[in-house]
Amino acid sequence: MWKVAMSEEVGKALLSVVERVNLAATRRPKALPALPPRLVAVSKTKPPEMVVEAYRHGQRYFGENYVNELVEKASDPLILESCPEIKWHFIGHLQKNNVNKLLAVPNLFLVETVDSPKLADKVNSSWQRIRGASTQRLKIMVQINTSGEQSKHGLPPEETVNTVKHILSQCSALHFAGLMTIGRYGYDLTLGPNPDFQMLLSRRQEVCGSLKLPLEDVELSMGMSTDFEHAIEVGATNVRVGSIIFGYRDYPNSATNTPNPSPFPSPAPSPEKTSKAVSEEAAKKMQHLTVSEH
Ligand SMILES: *Cc1c(COP(=O)(O)O)cnc(C)c1O
Repeated sequence: MWKVAMSEEVGKALLSVVERVNLAATRRPKALPALPPRLVAVSKTKPPEMVVEAYRHGQRYFGENYVNELVEKASDPLILESCPEIKWHFIGHLQKNNVNKLLAVPNLFLVETVDSPKLADKVNSSWQRIRGASTQRLKIMVQINTSGEQSKHGLPPEETVNTVKHILSQCSALHFAGLMTIGRYGYDLTLGPNPDFQMLLSRRQEVCGSLKLPLEDVELSMGMSTDFEHAIEVGATNVRVGSIIFGYRDYPNSATNTPNPSPFPSPAPSPEKTSKAVSEEAAKKMQHLTVSEH
């Protein structure tokens, strides 16, 4: 089914999201740091061919939330060959026993879901080993459970400052990039600003105040398909958008916690526009969308 619709649909949907991201950024209060928002295209359960299609339309940042699925997709020969500048975000729950596997992923860019000092220590030591002689630090964010729901992972909000402090002082292989939240689903925006986003903003304020960090150095990852514009308007620097780019997800056996295990269908004969030039041009147009790499 996706074969037929994919190539036009993914590109079109992506470009419309990019436009909406840019428009939302113009509506931000001037007092907020003017960081251009980074769009992370969440490709979980979707085949490599769709990632390549979005890449050809200029998208560079992609998110996955199951370690095994990310390992598989990031090492897929088609993606390795067609997407040399791809940057993967890990946005799922991370268990200590999966850290080594995750950190070996090619083109891993940012781990958004560190949610305890112990996990940070594990990621730190694992990265020290994996990077070998390199001094490159691994970018991470701290995930906060802003809604306090049992079902959501993340650090209790009141532990934010101490955890960030721990990372800055004890985890020399990590680059603390910001705070991330998922928040309550289905919040009704007619009731006012999303309280989960407001809480992330106030925790950033607190972190920056206590630890003497400039606001610009602490990103906020919040906002998904249904609320990314609102998130950007209130200060998100990183939005994670899946279904409105790639279509709704099928979870076989409604097992929402397991990645789609079935082998993906073989790709449709690729259309003419596979040229690197097209993709690079598109990427250039989108450069203003991406936060510079520190
Ligand atoms: C799946 C997922 C998203 C994207 O959700 P959509 O509603 O499809 O945009 C964003 N963030 C996380 C952590 C996710 O797991």
